[in-house]
Amino acid sequence: MKIRYKLALGFALVSFVLLLSAAAIVYFVQQSDRQQQLLDRLQTKARKAIVYYESNQLNSIQQELDDAIGVLPEERLLIYDIDRRLLYQSDSGNVNLTGSILSQVNSRKPAKFSDNELEGFGFQVKGSKQVYLVLASANDIFGRKKLENLANVLSLVVFGGFLLSFACGLAFASRAMNPISEVIKQVDAIDYSNISARVASRKGRDEIALLAYTFNKMLDRLEVAFKVQRNFVANASHEMRTPLTAITGQLEVVLLKERTNREYKMALESVLDDIINLTQTSNRLLLLAQTDSKIAESSFQPLRIDDILWQAQAEVIKRKPDYKIDITFYDLPEDEMQLTILGNDQLLITMATNLMDNGCKFSPDHTVKVQLSVYKSLVQIMFSDQGSGIPKEDLPHIFEPFYRSKNAILVKGHGIGLSLVQRIVNIHHGNLKVLSEPGVGTAFILTFPLNL
Ligand code: ADP
Repeated sequence: MKIRYKLALGFALVSFVLLLSAAAIVYFVQQSDRQQQLLDRLQTKARKAIVYYESNQLNSIQQELDDAIGVLPEERLLIYDIDRRLLYQSDSGNVNLTGSILSQVNSRKPAKFSDNELEGFGFQVKGSKQVYLVLASANDIFGRKKLENLANVLSLVVFGGFLLSFACGLAFASRAMNPISEVIKQVDAIDYSNISARVASRKGRDEIALLAYTFNKMLDRLEVAFKVQRNFVANASHEMRTPLTAITGQLEVVLLKERTNREYKMALESVLDDIINLTQTSNRLLLLAQTDSKIAESSFQPLRIDDILWQAQAEVIKRKPDYKIDITFYDLPEDEMQLTILGNDQLLITMATNLMDNGCKFSPDHTVKVQLSVYKSLVQIMFSDQGSGIPKEDLPHIFEPFYRSKNAILVKGHGIGLSLVQRIVNIHHGNLKVLSEPGVGTAFILTFPLNL
């Protein structure tokens, strides 16, 4: 069921209950009012009858009374003395069944009785000579008819009110819901082909304006992610195609004519170089795509961070023996076990080799300093170099996949390393900061929570 119908129905049901309660109160008040009026009328008549009775004008009682007060349909008056002897009877009907009612009559409250449409009361009246017991009854056709009419009007009001409040509720709910439907329609029309489209913003600060604003913020984020993804695919295929084109070109040139063994060897070595490069790029891309925090966290184990640095150093030196990596420890705890963090060794070694490699690659002395220190429950690793530094305007972008700053034009690379580093740091719940000054050097400062 649509929300607008639910709201309208809820509103109508509440109104229905309220109207029904009000109608019931009005009806019962009216009903007791009618009975009271009937009782008053019969009591007045009884008092008058007793006055006539006591002044021995018995013969004229009925006519006098009817003239004075009027007569109700099937009206009947029976007057008894305190010993239940019948003194006066306004008609000639049967009085045998009145005994049980008489026994209920007392001075405090009138006794009620009814017989089909006849309603009656038993009560005491004090005359000048004695106390009388009176049984008075009548068929209150007019009173009941009035009550029936009232009941009909009240039912009409209640059901009419229910329908009206449902209609009004529906109108209000529809008015309130229309902007939501409008937002839904607009959001529904946005897909990858028009990801830049936005939901029309509304004036004011109501919930729907907030909803539209929140949708637009989400679309902003999605658009960025979508563009990054699109660029990533374009850049990745470019990175793969360049060495492949180079390989194809070299092989085609070599095959143009017969070559000496030395020329073949040189060509193969160059192709091998390109293939190693290609393999390295595809491995890094694969790692970047696979660095999913959930999968990685399942492989976490306690690792000594100093071991990770030594292993990374050995790996970089194996590939580039002319690189210098100085590892220094500061304020280390006496218990070396306090140098452990929870992590994945392969990912952490990849992270450290990338930062060591960059530090050496971008500095003329091919040297990077690695400083390890512990503070409270954190371990900090700083990779600093005295290299080219990164221009200020490029700093916000260096962690984007395939981004290479101007300083990297003459240096080999693919722009994947730092985005991989950032992901690895995030997966390990660490923090990454970069300080750089062109011509002075660069420092990457990483902190990780210790596994204490
Ligand atoms: P790559 O090193 O393959 O170019 P990275 O993702 O590792 O890719 O680095 C991205 C860019 O950040 C580099 O191209 C370079 O411009 C800059 N950069 C990274 N590390 C340093 C550093 N230590 N010194 C100067 N520039 C750096």
